[in-house]
Amino acid sequence: MLVSTLYAQPSSLAIGALATVAAAVVSAWIADLPELYVAAFVLGLIAAARVTAALGMSPDSESSSTASLELVYEIGAFSYALALGCTAAFTIIVNTNTEVEVLMVANAVGYGIGVSARNAGRLTIAIGQLTFTCLPIALAAFWTGKPGFIALGVTILLLIPAMISIAGNIFKVLRDSIASAETSKKLAEKMQVLARTDVVTGLANRAGLNHAMVETMMGVDDDSHLALIWIDLDRFKEVNDLLGHPVGDRVLSEVAKRLSAVSPDGGTVARFGGDEFIVFCPIVDRKDSERLASEIHAEIMRPFRIDGERLEVRASLGVALLPENGTDADTLMQSADLALYHAKVGGRAQTCFYDGSMSRDLVRRREIEDELRAALQRDELSIFFQPIVNLETGRIKTFEALVRWFHPEKGELRPDEFIPVAEETGVIVTLGNWITAQAARIAASWPEDVTIAVNLSPLQIRAPGAALGIKNALREAGLDPRRLELEVTESLFIEDNHATAAFIEELSEIGVRFALDDFGTGYSSLGYINKFPFSKIKVDRSFVSGEQVGKKSEAIIRAVAEMGTTLGMDIVAEGLETIEQVQSVKDAGCNLGQGYYFSRAVPDYLAAMLLTQERDQESRQATG
Ligand code: C2E
Ligand code: CA
Ligand code: CA
Repeated sequence: MLVSTLYAQPSSLAIGALATVAAAVVSAWIADLPELYVAAFVLGLIAAARVTAALGMSPDSESSSTASLELVYEIGAFSYALALGCTAAFTIIVNTNTEVEVLMVANAVGYGIGVSARNAGRLTIAIGQLTFTCLPIALAAFWTGKPGFIALGVTILLLIPAMISIAGNIFKVLRDSIASAETSKKLAEKMQVLARTDVVTGLANRAGLNHAMVETMMGVDDDSHLALIWIDLDRFKEVNDLLGHPVGDRVLSEVAKRLSAVSPDGGTVARFGGDEFIVFCPIVDRKDSERLASEIHAEIMRPFRIDGERLEVRASLGVALLPENGTDADTLMQSADLALYHAKVGGRAQTCFYDGSMSRDLVRRREIEDELRAALQRDELSIFFQPIVNLETGRIKTFEALVRWFHPEKGELRPDEFIPVAEETGVIVTLGNWITAQAARIAASWPEDVTIAVNLSPLQIRAPGAALGIKNALREAGLDPRRLELEVTESLFIEDNHATAAFIEELSEIGVRFALDDFGTGYSSLGYINKFPFSKIKVDRSFVSGEQVGKKSEAIIRAVAEMGTTLGMDIVAEGLETIEQVQSVKDAGCNLGQGYYFSRAVPDYLAAMLLTQERDQESRQATG
């Protein structure tokens, strides 16, 4: 940068050259000395050569190195200064007339002073130029021996140290300001890199991804293909909560490493929020993106080893492609987000590619969201009851209350579709209270030994006054608290929430019982089975009728049943559809069963009828 100041403002250089060449020509004309014509010619020649060199060697061009730029300038500057100084000295020595001497000396000295200030960025050049112009004049002045000239020589010599000090000062100011500009530029660059980097994984963060996407999208042509893969780790919150944040962070870093390794060159890997990642990269075609997505999926599912412990993480992936699913960054992100949402809703641990119908599904979800509140008032919701049967006697022990929504246009909606929406929007609290109240009211009309099970969402339990709501429902229905069973899932215990503990304790005290629902689908940590007073464990139906049912799931049911017997708990097998399944869970030690084999969930009058039939049969058997 210091060298480039030499080349900056070429106009001052041109004015200097013009003035001195003109002065030399005028002097030659007045004095009519051929030597001065030669001098004017030489000065003009050097000036022309310097201008040509300056035009050919810009400090901005890559081909000219700093050292060569400086050297070329130095040679030109010194030869010009020396030529000018000697010309002025010559006018003194040959004793031309005063007019010419003043013209040349003033010009040369003025030039020397001006140029040494101008070129203070390179001190050697500045001082050299001053010395080469002034020294010959001073020597010539002394050589004349005339007092006036001697005084001139002395003052000119004094100029040299004075100018050295001035140029030195300018040089320092220049150097310091360049240095501080460079530091702040470096700092700004560093800050920018930091602002675009995720601290935990070292990947790009949201800002970094945006930047990379903009850059990539600007460079795409008509036949480029890009894939945006949005990855969400399933139930990562549980890893964090159960094993702690440091372990969580290490898992994230490891995932980041694996993603970077499988992503193709020229792609960007970013971490987006807590446990979401994005891979944005060029692909050949759709097939290529499918291969990449499955590779990414396999990489994440590969077990981790952290502190010698084995850890498995699952992930859902949403993929959107350019140009098929969008040609700008925003649309592409929206499409991938929707695809990811579908992957999660569709049972997690899977990959979904965006397609147009997903937007329609989202619309449906929005509609559900909008209509759910009104549905309660419009009486579109009702409660169905599914029997839970004693496997030994075949008698109905409990009915599980399952909510149903009969929508006037959409038909029957499944709770799997609207309960999550109710949870997200908070409607679940009102809805849940209504369900408990209804269920309790109906159960009160059943024989004393039949109990009712109601599902509770974690959000409902954590809501203020939750226990009071249940107590009110029981009182209004006139139902004995011992006939109410609340089904909760493991997800409730992931957060160590004292509201949860207080809720369970307060209701247990009055006799309400608790069942652990969907056992085996979550983290299945047995700690809370010990900690909370569960009277029942419901083994998830994936162990009974899922695809992977086999020796392993049978062994798990057996172990859970054994534990249940030891702890005095009931063990329910869910999802029994065939007699073989009933037989096998019974053999494994479950004492209760639930499933289509016995009955689907039915409306209240049918539930009552099932109970009446059962009792009629029994009394007939008893009377023989
Ligand atoms: P869940 O608590 O595990 O309920 C059992 C689900 O399995 C019910 O589905 C039931 O109809 C179904 N099922 C029962 N036997 C069989 C069988 O033999 N085979 C098969 N394939 N399925 C069987 P449903 O009624 O669609 O409920 C789904 C989930 O929605 C429930 O799972 C529960 O988590 C939630 N849910 C239902 N009603 C309520 C409610 O009133 N409150 C809350 N918070 N959640 C509810
Ligand atoms: Ca349940
Ligand atoms: Ca269940």
